[in-house]
Formats: sequence, structure tokens, C-alpha cells
Amino acid sequence: MGIMVPEKAGKYDFEVGMYRPPSEGGSSSLLLRFTRNCPWNKCTFCGMYKHEKFSLRTVEEIKADIDSIAGLIKGMQSLSLELGHGGQINRDTIIAMIEKEPELNTSQGFGMILNWLSSGGKTVFLQDGNSLMMASEKLVHVLKYLRNAFPSLERCTTYARSKTLSRKSLEELTAIRKAGLDRLHVGLETGDDALLKKIRKGVSGEEHIDGGRKAIKAGFQLSEYWMPGLGGKEDWENHAKNTARVLNGINPNYIRSRPFSPWPGTPIHDEYEKGTLTLLSPGEVLIELKLLIETLDVTSKVCFDHAGNGWVNRNGQLLFTQSYEGYKFPEEKPRVLELIEEGIEAQ
Ligand code: SF4
Repeated sequence: MGIMVPEKAGKYDFEVGMYRPPSEGGSSSLLLRFTRNCPWNKCTFCGMYKHEKFSLRTVEEIKADIDSIAGLIKGMQSLSLELGHGGQINRDTIIAMIEKEPELNTSQGFGMILNWLSSGGKTVFLQDGNSLMMASEKLVHVLKYLRNAFPSLERCTTYARSKTLSRKSLEELTAIRKAGLDRLHVGLETGDDALLKKIRKGVSGEEHIDGGRKAIKAGFQLSEYWMPGLGGKEDWENHAKNTARVLNGINPNYIRSRPFSPWPGTPIHDEYEKGTLTLLSPGEVLIELKLLIETLDVTSKVCFDHAGNGWVNRNGQLLFTQSYEGYKFPEEKPRVLELIEEGIEAQ
């Protein structure tokens, strides 16, 4: 799991990691691997990079991947001109390119690049779990190189940990932002200190607030992900209240819901099997959600943009929109509370 193309075997091979947020799939983002796996890798609910070791990639390796992708695009544009398609990368061009370069048949990232190009080549996601682990000056250098290589880019996004954000200075974060990184996706999970400790998140509620505020001050758009149901029956109330308190302290651009379910093979799944963690029913999770929403005092967009948000309304349809832009608060807070009431009755 994790590395799909571990070594450079040909001129069009570049590394592609396994994960990206759903919103980046929705915008057909180019996936570029800046680091491998997760430097923390201890959260008890997470199985994403469990069997993989974190490593930094060198500036040269990342730039070689950018060059490889830019070269591939240039190659297709030249071929298109030769074929009389005016430089447009259409079906004929792609077929001719694969005939000319058969290694593309087995290149894991080729389809991803074609999707990205067909969506206008506007967004890029930097993989894997925490790109801000790179030394700030190296990150700034590669970001400038990336923006220069692909001028069509309108948005550049990555995952980051609050702890890392709180450790970087405002000056460093501002330099990274100005070099071309626009949006950060941060796993908040919960704002409750006892629960943060229990799930081994490696960060406190205060550090979440500090890291998030600093990121916003540096000019980033910030998405915070929280996990409904994470505290189970034992901790649901503190989880809801303190998550809302921390989110109020940050006031991020986006608050995204990722309902908890125990992933087999993770430590939290063992707790669930042993009976020390009792899961909430879908209706009980909505009661927890109601408490969080009532306590929220933000101007964020509150989103349910993941299949895990599968609650239904009285007609058996999805309760919430799964739009990546969600519900604008405070304007749509009453609407969300109405939907929650409907959902509690319908579960
Ligand atoms: S920091 Fe993120 S990727 Fe790393 S272990 Fe925790 S949840 Fe998983």
C-alpha cells in the first residue's frame, strides 16, 4: 500500500501515492508526491499508511517528476501538431502517443494526467500525509518550480498536521503560501483533549487552534476534518462540545465531516472488539452532530462530502448534500439543524 511506482524505470515514470481528499478527486487534480506516507503514523483509528515508512523525497526527485510530466504533455502537443490536430490533446493524439511510447500502457499516472488535462489542468494535490515536513526553503523552491512548469494551475493543495503548522513560524508559512500553496487539509478529528490523547493524535486542542489560526493568518484556505462518532457512547458529549469549541477558535474555511468507523487492523478496532469502545447508532451520531452544530459559531462552509455521511431523510434519500462547498454558516445553520431533526426521526 502507498507507493504505486517505487522506482524510476522509464522517462515517464513518476511516483503517485494512494490517497487524496475526495474534493481533489472531484476536481481531477494532478497528484504529485512530495513526501512518502505519514511522518506520525500513530493515530489509533488510521490504517492509511500503517505498513509504510515515512520518507522525504529530495528536491531533485520531485523536480524530475515535474519535468517528466511536463515532457509528456509537450510530447503529446508536438504529436498533435504532426497529426494536424493543432496541438490539441485528443483521442487520436493519445492513441498515437501510446503507440510511440508503449511504456505509457503501464504508467500508473498516465490516466490521472489525462483526466487532469481534460479538466483544464487547474488543480494539483501534493501527496502524501504531511508535505509541510519538508524544510520550508526546499518546499518554497519546489512550489515555485511547479508553478513555473504549469502556469495553468489555479489551486495547489496538500495535507498538513496541526502540530507541524504550530511549529513553523508565521514567516515560513507565509513564504510557502506565497510560493504557490493555496489550501491545507488538516485532520482535526476532535477538539477534546482526553480523546485526542486516547486516539494518539499527537496534538492538543490548543495546538489545533494555534496551527489553524497561523495557517489562516499566513493566507491559506483551511479545511478541517472532524470525525462524528469517534468518542463512541463513552465520550460523545465532550467530543461534540470541544470539537465545536476548537473549530470556533480556528474558524476555518471548511469543516468537513468524516464519520468514524473502526477500520480492521487498527488499534481502535481492537478496542471496539474488546468492548471498551461502544459505537453510536446512526441516529445517536446525529444527536452528537446536533450538539456540535448548535455550539458552532463560525463563518465556515460545513460539508458532508464523503460517502460515510450516509444518513437518509424521510424519503430515504441522502440527508445532506455531498457538495464539496457544503452549507455556508451562519446563514445555513438553521437549515442544517432542521435536516438533523428530520434525520433523527428517519433513522
Ligand atoms: S496523522 Fe493522518 S495519516 Fe498520519 S496516522 Fe494520523 S490520521 Fe493517519
